[in-house]
Amino acid sequence: AVPVTVISAIGSASRFGVVIKSGAAFEQFGTIRTVAFDKTGTLTQGQPQVTETRTAPGGSQQDVLAWAAALEATSTHPLAAAITAAAPDSPAASEVAEDAGHGIAGRVTGRFVRVGSPRWIAPAGLRTDADELAEMGMTVVVVEADGEVVGLIGVRDELRPEATETVRMLHDQGIGTVMLTGDDARTARALAAQACIDDVRAELLPADKAEAITGLAAARPTAMVGDGINDSPALATATVGIAMGATGSAAAVESADIAFTGHDLRLIPAAFAHARRGRRIMT
Ligand code: ADP
Ligand code: MG
Repeated sequence: AVPVTVISAIGSASRFGVVIKSGAAFEQFGTIRTVAFDKTGTLTQGQPQVTETRTAPGGSQQDVLAWAAALEATSTHPLAAAITAAAPDSPAASEVAEDAGHGIAGRVTGRFVRVGSPRWIAPAGLRTDADELAEMGMTVVVVEADGEVVGLIGVRDELRPEATETVRMLHDQGIGTVMLTGDDARTARALAAQACIDDVRAELLPADKAEAITGLAAARPTAMVGDGINDSPALATATVGIAMGATGSAAAVESADIAFTGHDLRLIPAAFAHARRGRRIMT
């Protein structure tokens, strides 16, 4: 049974736009000492824009974008929206398969195309360009056709306006912060520094994010905050899994303990403070 004080605390928590799935989860809120954030779509706007395209010698920017967009038209990943917006007239794709945390592959106009992270597809002759875009804080997407790297797409995803303030509010409560991301380490470090986040774990696959959470939670009670694209295993592993945004995927809301209907990250430190007050009332 859920104690009456917890029920009333949950009642007032709904003011924050919180859907709490269990009273136990809300009690845990007041104990959290580390918050791990997914990067893309959680700390960032999740509305990335294509800002650069680089092609291999003889390649065309238009082909690179159109072939990538053909595959991404089937994906819900935030990067997919950026790439499809940059090439509205892409051809149709078939046999498309997305590989979570890596990228997407399929047939486009007779070619076997792969689109994904520089770890999944080595940038070959475009290595220097890939490094340059990452140092600028862009997410680098490599485009390959029939086994040849044909281009790079540089995507910029700005931090949410309240991200830095949220991190400061958490630090003021003595709570440590970590960024978990499947993205390149340089891109991740550039954004983490901007948001004053303590620690960065980059180039993680969805299963690695869950493993990182296991390690963090063994040391101190840890909340994982995600938008749900690829981070369901980590949300399920954390002391408390928090899904942000009403548009979060059903899988994320399913694996989270708490879902915020809004996407203002400051709700998190506000709810922690609120939960601690609830705990004081109970004890
Ligand atoms: P994050 O942890 O930042 O939310 P993901 O784990 O979703 O990122 O993805 C990690 C990396 O894998 C991305 O930065 C990107 O390079 C690549 N990737 C994943 N999905 C796609 C996709 N649909 N198209 C292109 N690249 C992708
Ligand atoms: Mg994400």
